[in-house]
Amino acid sequence: MKDPNEARKTGFFKSMRFRAVLLVLLAGCLSAALGFLAGSIYVREKSIKLMNASVKNEVTRLSEKISRNVYTSAPSQSPDITRELDFTASYYDGRVAVTDSNLIVIYDSYSLEYDKYIISTEAILALRGVTSLTRDSAKKMYEMVFPVVETAASSGTDEVKNQPQQVLGIIIINYSVSDCYELAKGYVTLSVLLGVIGLILLIILGNFGAERLVRPLNQVSRALDNVSQGILEEKVEIGGYSEIARISDSINDMLGRIAELENSRQEFVSNVSHELKTPVTSIKILSDSLLAQPDAPVELYREFMQDINSEIDRESTIINDLLAMSRLDRKNGDMHIALVNINEMIEMLLKRLSPLAAAANVELIFESYREVEAEVDEVKLNLSLSNIIENAVKYNKEKGSVKVFLNSDHNSFIVRVTDTGIGIPQSELDNVFDRFYRVDKMRSRETGGTGLGLAISKSIILMHHGTVRVESVEGEGSSFTVKIPLNYIPENA
Ligand code: ADP
Repeated sequence: MKDPNEARKTGFFKSMRFRAVLLVLLAGCLSAALGFLAGSIYVREKSIKLMNASVKNEVTRLSEKISRNVYTSAPSQSPDITRELDFTASYYDGRVAVTDSNLIVIYDSYSLEYDKYIISTEAILALRGVTSLTRDSAKKMYEMVFPVVETAASSGTDEVKNQPQQVLGIIIINYSVSDCYELAKGYVTLSVLLGVIGLILLIILGNFGAERLVRPLNQVSRALDNVSQGILEEKVEIGGYSEIARISDSINDMLGRIAELENSRQEFVSNVSHELKTPVTSIKILSDSLLAQPDAPVELYREFMQDINSEIDRESTIINDLLAMSRLDRKNGDMHIALVNINEMIEMLLKRLSPLAAAANVELIFESYREVEAEVDEVKLNLSLSNIIENAVKYNKEKGSVKVFLNSDHNSFIVRVTDTGIGIPQSELDNVFDRFYRVDKMRSRETGGTGLGLAISKSIILMHHGTVRVESVEGEGSSFTVKIPLNYIPENA
């Protein structure tokens, strides 16, 4: 037989445990990747924003200074401003240029564009007092164009406050934001490093969690392995998850049912062997004692042969009952359903049993309230009712009676067999339909009973989706009530 553990080992990549860990890892990696991306964009954009604000502050300060010192008209007179502009250019690692109000360059930190015109939309907008900021993402560069507006100091009068301000020139600053990109890159590197540590922890914890998750399933699998190896006694005790607890309850129910079936199978086999052996043992004793007496008279031979003959009859009755029962056990496949007149069927049955009743000095009475026609398997139902009525005769008293009532409603017909016989003790009522069950073994044996009659009757009634009930008062008599639907309901309907 294949070792189940081996199967589990070779199928590791198909195991729930592996899949669960994989799922956790995929989910972890995906959310980490999205987190890193969002984080790096945030860090980059935030630092660019801060840098832009800082550039704007610086340019505002310079613009005020330029305006105050009228630098746009005479740059050579303010060398300190030129130095400051140089410093700003190198601080932001970029280029600073200043023009006068005619857009002629009067300062360029690269010293390339002196006395040239700067013509651009942003420059013209700046002359109207508008500050613009342009981004070149490919080169990771920004360009800020800022107007230098006239201040009170540069106009030499206070009136300027109430008039539209005059633009004296513009400041253009080009600066790189690659440091911000570098910062974001650094963030990603650090995050990936932490992510890898997180991933390792995730694998360890995920593996541990998955092991716990699938542990009950492994227990279920072991319990089922036990069942397949025929160990039915061990109960499955699995707690933890409610789903698994339900499965374990179902397995326990199933185990109980299998054990019950196994018990009843064993009991049945031992009963059958016992019943079949009894007549054979009698025959053996009878024949042995004849063989032991070579000079036995013919009369003795005749007497023993009669006993042997009746034991053989008994054996054959048991075998016939067993065969009938095993045919019934093969389920409804061979039900031969037809519309049958139940009144006629019972009359025929009683006619057939009348010699038996006469021999036992028991009166057979049939009472029918109406004509009943029903869809039944006539042969089987005949056997079922015959067993019940035969019992009513067999377990009756001298000069007793058996009454058979037939009635019906819209759905079912009822056959009630009431006798004035010995009755059945209350405590035995539940068992009379069990296979091989007999209240009084001796009496049953004398009357040729096998203990299978009522079991056969009941299984036929169930095959018709009917019910059978027994009531009895010991010493006074018994009453068996059979109820069967008028229309047969097929098994798979
Ligand atoms: P048997 O072949 O022994 O008659 P059954 O299965 O037909 O087996 O009946 C089981 C037992 O139930 C009988 O042995 C008998 O003890 C009891 N029994 C059945 N029918 C009656 C009845 N009408 N009155 C009293 N006892 C009965």
